[in-house]
Amino acid sequence: QTIQDELISSIRTIKDYPSEGILFRDITTLLGDARAFRRAVDALVQPWAGSKVDQVAGIEARGFILGGAVAHQVSSGFVPIRKKGKLPHETVRIAYSLEYGLDEMEMHKDAIRPGDRVIVVDDLIATGGTAEAACKLLRSMGANIEAAVFIVDLPDLGGRGKLEAMNVSVRTLVE
Ligand code: IMP
Repeated sequence: QTIQDELISSIRTIKDYPSEGILFRDITTLLGDARAFRRAVDALVQPWAGSKVDQVAGIEARGFILGGAVAHQVSSGFVPIRKKGKLPHETVRIAYSLEYGLDEMEMHKDAIRPGDRVIVVDDLIATGGTAEAACKLLRSMGANIEAAVFIVDLPDLGGRGKLEAMNVSVRTLVE
């Protein structure tokens, strides 16, 4: 069984969640499968074996779970990128559009040093709007983005192209 087959079979699909007509890819079943979880994290970090990464930036909330494991694996720090109003110290903030309306995400002002090599992590990329905003926020603080990595790509929604257009390389494991 290839790693792609194993990961795909460990991801649950839920119909009409969070609203009608949506097929939600639920990775909690992958996280709950010890072997699939380990293989996914190992595969995500494989290009950085032996190279220096300063910070892994995880996008709330599933990006925290994967990002913590990824940071451990590459021996880097971890930076949470959160929905607004959750971080206690001084922050920088960016607005981004969702399917309906706007939202904002933020990170601590002192979380990144200029020139830090950063990997951005989330579970899934759809339109790429969330990851694009996270990359902009990180770059505004001087981050050098090595890549954005995701377990799942929904290729019909064009997220990969959106990040590549801003010169961020994208690594995904399954479509
Ligand atoms: P995007 O901004 O359109 O790329 O949406 C990606 C964000 O929405 C990520 O933070 C994902 O965790 C979340 N998301 C969108 N669709 C799904 C899904 O089917 N399963 C899990 N998360 C999703």
